Amino acid sequence: MNYRGSKQRERILELLKKTHSHPTADWLYMTLKGEIPNLSLGTVYRNLKILVEQGLILKLSFGSTFDRFEAKIAPHYHLVCENCGVVDDINMPQFSQINAKAEKLTLFKIVRHQIYFFGICDKCLG
Ligand SMILES: [Zn+2]
Ligand SMILES: [Zn+2]
Repeated sequence: MNYRGSKQRERILELLKKTHSHPTADWLYMTLKGEIPNLSLGTVYRNLKILVEQGLILKLSFGSTFDRFEAKIAPHYHLVCENCGVVDDINMPQFSQINAKAEKLTLFKIVRHQIYFFGICDKCLG
């Protein structure tokens, strides 16, 4: 099958919807390249950028070397293992007033916030 442009993007989005590991662009590329022969890491990045712009996926940046991506776009907080780098969702209600509090302290119009909890995951703890 010949995959081009939007078809590649569709497959990236499908894979992101199926996986909950908040993968990197590299992981998506390695996973899909067998299925999509003309795929390159550059096209994966380009498609991810478009999907982020379309609001279909989120990009997670928290100072690690690689950006991570996910298709779960409802607001939620994250756990990050400082030992193995695993990123997980935490099922915890959003702090609804925190945006308004931050707004009172600044001239910013706050639209969203993110929280990352850093620590050691259960697997690394043994
Ligand atoms: Zn870990
Ligand atoms: Zn998440």
